[in-house]
Amino acid sequence: MSNMTRRSMLSKGIVGSIGAGSSILPMFAAEKNSPAFQRLKVLVAGGHPDDPESGCGGTIARYTEQGHEVVILYLTRGEAGIQGKSATEAAAIRTAESLKACEILKARPIFAGQLDGATELNSEQYDRIFKILQAERPSVLFTQWPIDRHRDHRAASQLVFDYWLKSGKSVDLFYYEVEAGMQTQNFYPTHYVDITSTESRKRQACFAHTSQLPETTWYRMHEEMHRIRGLEHGCRMAEAFIRHNQSPDTGLPGL
Ligand SMILES: [Zn+2]
Repeated sequence: MSNMTRRSMLSKGIVGSIGAGSSILPMFAAEKNSPAFQRLKVLVAGGHPDDPESGCGGTIARYTEQGHEVVILYLTRGEAGIQGKSATEAAAIRTAESLKACEILKARPIFAGQLDGATELNSEQYDRIFKILQAERPSVLFTQWPIDRHRDHRAASQLVFDYWLKSGKSVDLFYYEVEAGMQTQNFYPTHYVDITSTESRKRQACFAHTSQLPETTWYRMHEEMHRIRGLEHGCRMAEAFIRHNQSPDTGLPGL
């Protein structure tokens, strides 16, 4: 973690203050219907169906509630994620679950066409992601933190990072965490979002991934994370992020 503490970030106005709806950024402060409102396009990338939802579903819900556009990019369709099902069957089930989750979060899904458990990092895949992201022209990027036990999470992180570099680092890049300690590791947040008001929608979106048994397994971990990050931030429940420190110096856009 950098030497910048949360206290110093607060004094610099980088981190939102306590309480849902609080913000230090003009574009977020502007009401949806006011002329000052600037609609952001937020793109959240993840290796599998359920990663963007579990890592930042509460933040996504806050963005869409504020009238911003959110696109979720799934690198794979979770082909390897259901025991006893073929890749095709699992992909169909998990695609349907993703569509439902996106509907709950009011986000638009995109599937990048890689295979769960066999993601590739090569020039063809870097080019493919670059084209997808270039066509979307996001104004804020979120992706998985690169130090993670799952190769597909690492792949998603690297592919988005490569786009960000090639596109001139012109938008904010944030990393999110999933199953802290188990999957994401060495994650020391720089930014927090109070999700107390949107956790219920996050929960619904995560629970849409029925095949992944969220209620008895990984969502419990995320509930613990919400509380710990909430304690760190000074609210009941929070999600945490690491902002790439070469992002444009604007803080967390919209929040
Ligand atoms: Zn995953």
